[in-house]
Amino acid sequence: MPGEFDLIGRVRARAGTRPDVLLGIGDDAALLRVPRGFELAVSTDTLIAGVHFPDDTTAADIGWKALAVNLSDLAAMAATPAWAVLALTLPSDDGDWLDGFLDGFEELARRHDVALVGGDTTRGPLSITITAHGFVPAGAALRRSGARVGDDIWVTGTLGDAAGALAQWRRGGPRSAKLRYRLDRPTPRLAEALALRGLATAAIDVSDGLAADLGHLTDASGIGAQIDLGRLPTSRILADHFADEHERWRLQLSGGDDYELCFTAPAANALAIEQALAACAASATVIGAVIAGRGLAFTTPDGEAFELNASGYDHFTGGHV
Ligand code: ADP
Ligand code: MG
Repeated sequence: MPGEFDLIGRVRARAGTRPDVLLGIGDDAALLRVPRGFELAVSTDTLIAGVHFPDDTTAADIGWKALAVNLSDLAAMAATPAWAVLALTLPSDDGDWLDGFLDGFEELARRHDVALVGGDTTRGPLSITITAHGFVPAGAALRRSGARVGDDIWVTGTLGDAAGALAQWRRGGPRSAKLRYRLDRPTPRLAEALALRGLATAAIDVSDGLAADLGHLTDASGIGAQIDLGRLPTSRILADHFADEHERWRLQLSGGDDYELCFTAPAANALAIEQALAACAASATVIGAVIAGRGLAFTTPDGEAFELNASGYDHFTGGHV
């Protein structure tokens, strides 16, 4: 049996480093240097077995996703990730599981030059909490509160794939491996976020479903939003597996787990945004407009109002997986 200090040793061997880490894993606290002229963006997210991922999710996918959801929060602020702290609660001292977890974690951490600088390791029902730290030039962060009436509303990538995978998993019928990959291996939109600095007025990442998350942005900005359902970016694979457009819209609006960025920008910036995103091989779609008033209005391609009965995931009112 490996025991706590063997587990920490396994983590430490995979932690990576950077010049701004003066002291990483091994002491009572890490010592880190924030570059002059930058603000430190800090965000934390917990993943709990059975709530945030289906119980057949591999250790490597859990490792990837636990970091990805945190990097997605930094992306939503237009911050560049630098450091992570990992609080792990494991049911047993299963070294193989931990090695698998670290495979997924390290794969994503290396891709974005993230050093793991500390954490805590305890025993209990599987739960993973990561705190991610990133830098943003002073004053350049994208907040939820910056949207203005008349701005376009954009979303990166496509919506609904992860929710489609979850729906198939719950149903127990045919499943698409491509949809499942989008659920297990979300891509934090970090390159997109940097491209949007100075062009977008507000941003949020879509973790709980577009309706819920855009609702947070419009509330924070004190405005409303009108969304054209016919413009929601939809992958071929989602359309193939969910032919009914009403069902698809529900997945796209309330499903969650997309980790795309939803952002607002003046129409005058549209061309610059398209060019900046194209330069990093990314894309985003205008899905509607910021309007005066409050709340979200969804319009079908026929011009009819579309009512959503549930807007997104709430840990205290609904169960996920
Ligand atoms: P303490 O008793 O001071 O909390 P620990 O024995 O819990 O110290 O941890 C020893 C070192 O290992 C610390 O630097 C801590 O940050 C690091 N550490 C423990 N668990 C993890 C983990 N899951 N991921 C990263 N670092 C960890
Ligand atoms: Mg400790």
